[in-house]
Amino acid sequence: MVSNNQAQKKCWASCLGGCSDKISREHTITQAMFLDKEIEVSGMPWCVEPKKVGLANLTMKVLCVAHNSALSPVDEEAVKFADALRESFRLLQVRLGQERKRWTFIKFPIDGPRIERWFLKTLINATYQTESPIEDSSLVEIAFGRKPFEPNAGLYGVYDPPEKRQLFDGISVSSFTVRGRVVGATFSFLGFRLLLYLDKRGPELPFMEVGTEHGRISEIIEPTYHPLQIGYQAGKGTSHAVVFQWHT
Ligand SMILES: [Zn+2]
Repeated sequence: MVSNNQAQKKCWASCLGGCSDKISREHTITQAMFLDKEIEVSGMPWCVEPKKVGLANLTMKVLCVAHNSALSPVDEEAVKFADALRESFRLLQVRLGQERKRWTFIKFPIDGPRIERWFLKTLINATYQTESPIEDSSLVEIAFGRKPFEPNAGLYGVYDPPEKRQLFDGISVSSFTVRGRVVGATFSFLGFRLLLYLDKRGPELPFMEVGTEHGRISEIIEPTYHPLQIGYQAGKGTSHAVVFQWHT
């Protein structure tokens, strides 16, 4: 057990050195993206039942100003990802409503490694003041781009058939633990689901069992490592896509 009183005062990136004196009021979920939205948090040790909380209530003092600023490019990428998903949805409605034709393909590029780091940073933030904080200097270094994820760890896409997709314009985080240690989380990001896996062994493939929002019932998901794109079909073929660039 970690004393929460102690944890509350510390920046979670202090193991990197270079902390500033001031602690920022870091929002667990990047502020600019969901200013007036509610976010849903579940699977965390402090809440058995999923619950929605106002963003203001999730403002936590978990990073110093210097380390918070160092993650700005990562936050910007998450805002870009949210914008791309919203714009893709809007464009899909427009194109589906028109004559069936072959549309000019539009690509919304997203930097894969950066968005992957945003999910890691967000999970560290969200669990920091719980009974199972992620206090692993190696993961902190990864969040700051100082070293890469282990080969099978990192971001996975989760395929959901259209009828199962949530139309929830916000983000939810559901972490899972092994022997009290957080080893990963599923995220719903504007209705699109992703899995962040921290352990180097990676998730069970091709199918993995995860707890659902209500804890007891589990479901089987099919994770795809480093997804390439989220494609949208309209007219004769793919109309547009959010494309993850992994620099390989
Ligand atoms: Zn710091």
